[in-house]
Amino acid sequence: MLASRDGPLHIRPAYFPRLLPWLLRMVVASTPSRVEELSIALASILEGAVAAHEELAGPAGVRGSIVPTGWLKGFETEAGFRGSAADFALMRRRGIACDELDGNGIARLDPALKGRFARAVFHPGCCHVGNPHTYVRALGDHLLRLATACLADEVTGFDLTGGVVSGVRTRTQSIPADAVVVAAGAWSKPLAAMLGCKVPLDTERGYHMMLDARDCETKLQHPLYWADKSIVISPMGDLLRVTSSVEFAGLQAEPDFDLVLRNLPHVERLLPGVRLVPDSTWLGFRPSIPDSLPVIGPVPGVANALLAFGHGHLGLTLGPVTGKIVGAMLDGEAASIPTAPFSPSRFT
Ligand SMILES: Cc1cc2nc3c(=O)[nH]c(=O)nc-3n(C[C@H](O)[C@H](O)[C@H](O)COP(=O)(O)OP(=O)(O)OC[C@H]3O[C@@H](n4cnc5c(N)ncnc54)[C@H](O)[C@@H]3O)c2cc1C
Repeated sequence: MLASRDGPLHIRPAYFPRLLPWLLRMVVASTPSRVEELSIALASILEGAVAAHEELAGPAGVRGSIVPTGWLKGFETEAGFRGSAADFALMRRRGIACDELDGNGIARLDPALKGRFARAVFHPGCCHVGNPHTYVRALGDHLLRLATACLADEVTGFDLTGGVVSGVRTRTQSIPADAVVVAAGAWSKPLAAMLGCKVPLDTERGYHMMLDARDCETKLQHPLYWADKSIVISPMGDLLRVTSSVEFAGLQAEPDFDLVLRNLPHVERLLPGVRLVPDSTWLGFRPSIPDSLPVIGPVPGVANALLAFGHGHLGLTLGPVTGKIVGAMLDGEAASIPTAPFSPSRFT
């Protein structure tokens, strides 16, 4: 994978030494028995994800943005399809519907893909958010209407004495606090460290580009994972959002947009008529933990500090359900699922 520019994973050589401890932890988390355990924990938190979104999206006025499109994963060859059999077997063990389709089934489900894939798997239970930016903005605006106060500032430290946080320091001021929740995505590691908690957080960088699909003869109907090329293509009205492979290079390195632009000829071949929208590429930072589980729970040894980050590829999906768990923890109530697998203490 690492040797191929077209592969699903890139590590910048200069970043490799810094990433090595993270990679070693990932190897430790990759034994079949550990993967089984981790998948059970991940499934437990994913189960409530859509309901938690709906609970917020209704009052925020964006309930219609959560669309039950399902998710299609296409394979150009029978061998590629068979190579992923273990993944789908694991998903089935976790209760995820995986409908297998042949070429005719794919054409019936999504005519834009007629003749393009030999085999596919369709997950009918998946939902899709057509415009994540508008959607998240609406949820944020709704929550701000409920909040007592909101301050945009950079946290630089905490007032911590005797295992209790009494304040949050920012660039401009010091704010008294009864409790704190660190939820700063890929930037959370130094904040957690200031509270005495070392978390193996790194970032899986991901690029996007937008394509105009108005001139396509047939429109793609479903979000598609093109397994052979490791590309996700998501319909957004007349546009398509296309992803890159994953890149490890830390938070500071300059973007390498070629990692996503190199997918353009593949998508043009798959869906003739698409056109690149100028200046539409961007880079995002997934906050990723080597065991693929988010970090949610109290900081060991600090009574009133919680961590809530590390959701990797699933941060949009799991944001609301994580919020509910954190809310229960702050109120001293039991969370809706066992939270031990997500605890920050698993790293100590
Ligand atoms: C290409 C790509 C595709 C993705 N696709 C999906 C998908 O299909 N589904 C899905 O569920 N997820 C997806 N994700 C993952 C998702 O975007 C992330 O998991 C999610 O954004 C993480 O949310 P967060 O709130 O933890 O962090 P962020 O959204 O990164 O927010 C962290 C915030 O903390 C702020 N911050 C940082 N440091 C400080 C500080 N010191 N003081 C104050 N504030 C600070 C930052 O400014 C930022 O606003 C994708 C990510 C990428 C990059």
